[in-house]
Amino acid sequence: MDRQQEFVLRSIEERDIRFVRLWFTDILGSLKSVAVAPAELEGAFAEGIGFDGSAIEGLARVHEADMLLKPDPSTFQVLPWRGEHLGTARMFCDVLTPDGEPALMDPRHVLKRALNKAAEHGLTFYAHPEIEFYLVKDPILPGIEPTPVDQAGYFDHVPRGTTHDFRRAAIGVLESMGISVEFSHHEAGPGQNEIDLRYADALSTADNIMTFRTVIKEVALEQGLYATFMPKPMSAHPGSGMHTHFSLFEGDRNVFHEAGAEYQLSKTGRQFIAGLLKYAGEATAITNQWVNSYKRLWGGAEAPAYVCWGHNNRSALIRVPMYKPGKGQSTRIEYRAIDSAANPYLTFAVLLSAGLKGIEDGLDLPDGADDNVWSLTDAERRAMGITRLPESLAQATAAMEESELVAETLGEGVFDYFLRNKRQEWHDYRQQVTPFELDRYLTQL
Ligand code: GLU
Ligand code: MG
Ligand code: MG
Repeated sequence: MDRQQEFVLRSIEERDIRFVRLWFTDILGSLKSVAVAPAELEGAFAEGIGFDGSAIEGLARVHEADMLLKPDPSTFQVLPWRGEHLGTARMFCDVLTPDGEPALMDPRHVLKRALNKAAEHGLTFYAHPEIEFYLVKDPILPGIEPTPVDQAGYFDHVPRGTTHDFRRAAIGVLESMGISVEFSHHEAGPGQNEIDLRYADALSTADNIMTFRTVIKEVALEQGLYATFMPKPMSAHPGSGMHTHFSLFEGDRNVFHEAGAEYQLSKTGRQFIAGLLKYAGEATAITNQWVNSYKRLWGGAEAPAYVCWGHNNRSALIRVPMYKPGKGQSTRIEYRAIDSAANPYLTFAVLLSAGLKGIEDGLDLPDGADDNVWSLTDAERRAMGITRLPESLAQATAAMEESELVAETLGEGVFDYFLRNKRQEWHDYRQQVTPFELDRYLTQL
């Protein structure tokens, strides 16, 4: 046993932990959990714990159902909402095949593989997300438009406000689990909130996002509220994005930074953005994986719809945020398409690969777009070389299907499974006759 594993076993004894939840994520980004008794952990660290992978969305085909979960001791945390007495802790796991090989269908493995490729060039990938979500009053029921918890807007300070009490409680729980929070505020929509995590390496950030979604729902329930990360829950209000800031380090040097360059952005940083722009269309099925995601992307309200970059341009897909003087390490780029219901492991893997390809191929970065690209005509956008992001899940899956980059990054199994699943989702959606159609056509035609 190594020192981290010993530390986990010691903490479990000292803190009277009775249940250890083993967490992992399926291909569509749902968190899965199985609780084991502390006595099982030594075995879990050595060989893994067996489970039926075929019961989990996309994880294994029926004839190769046996899988193992191997806990990552560096992710050990006590779950504060389960209380001190008979405590519960969790660890994220790697999914392994019965031979102890990484399971190719494990999204965490997909990200690790992409990060290892960067590591071969001496590079570490960092990420921090701005996570938006809605707090609503009544239990969330399928098919019923939710009622937001308040009528406040962007940065509003509401005396005795429900949402700042909520944010305070949620941030307390996140911090106690080792997840640092940088900013939090009321977002533009009624009941909409944003919490921004401090940057960390991309694997920790992906794990943190999975934890975040659970924490937000747990704390909401404690306060008699309900939370949703649905990309666009109400047609009249902004969607919930997960803009994510990325940087790339070589040792302790931020390779996106160059003192004196425009926006302090290095040539490497420009090439990385060029890669992201080139592959943005192919990556969109991953960053925006639901039928509903496209209602947000094409719904305005500061969600991007066109493939372009800018500095102070909040309609662009990629933004190079304001540079803090004297803080070279803070140069970063913000990718704004991702929504709050994306699988963070697959998303980071694909975007890292796209950016690295931009560096590898020495791609040139086109001029930034300073205008609000929404207000230009199609012809003006064409003249500037600005294309559209996919407008529907159908367009996005069609673009992904042609993508060597996405296929290579996800691996064949995940790639095929994902496309099959998404084609089915689109099929189910398209089959419906919607209230819009009944409203508009029934009497008129
Ligand atoms: N809610 C917007 C989105 O869906 C983002 C608003 C903001 O700029 O924070 O992307
Ligand atoms: Mg926001
Ligand atoms: Mg932002």
